[in-house]
Amino acid sequence: MTNLNLLIRDVPDFPKPGVVFKDIGPLLADPTGFAACITALATPWRGTAIDAVCGIESRGFIFGAAMALELKTGFVPLRKVGKLPPPIVGIDYDLEYGSARLEIGAQGLPRGARVLLVDDVLATGGTLEAGRRLLETIGAEIVGAGVVIEIDALAGRRRWPVAVPLRALLHC
Ligand code: IMP
Repeated sequence: MTNLNLLIRDVPDFPKPGVVFKDIGPLLADPTGFAACITALATPWRGTAIDAVCGIESRGFIFGAAMALELKTGFVPLRKVGKLPPPIVGIDYDLEYGSARLEIGAQGLPRGARVLLVDDVLATGGTLEAGRRLLETIGAEIVGAGVVIEIDALAGRRRWPVAVPLRALLHC
């Protein structure tokens, strides 16, 4: 059995001093590890009614799209500003320094669609929270969220509703 932790590379002082960046590059490049990762991410959701997996740009696309295939659902991207053609719905959110915006195609999901939100890393939780708020804005029902890595020390999970399952494959 592949130890996925060994396929995550710690990069000190990236993108700025004091930050240890979790690089998923080796995981993606390893065919056995990548397949095991997608299976492990998708397995807990088998049997749950899901209309679409929503992945957050950009690494959430890689894992989310592969999970959607595993779960036999569609995939809907949550994109950074200015990438999607109109009509769109967007939401602004705060980063540690500055702000950002996530957008979704206004016709991408019908109201009441049951969605699974996916990203690569849960750090402070702001990005996943923004994704959740955006999906709520368009009337989607969020059945849960999945991330590959949760950085426990940053306590991002506190920004996620306890009643909605949030599954992390790896903790660091
Ligand atoms: P948060 O909003 O602080 O939870 O940061 C999560 C977002 O930033 C995700 O979309 C990740 O892609 C990205 N991110 C934060 N830290 C890392 C990291 O160590 N490696 C890769 N991506 C990261």
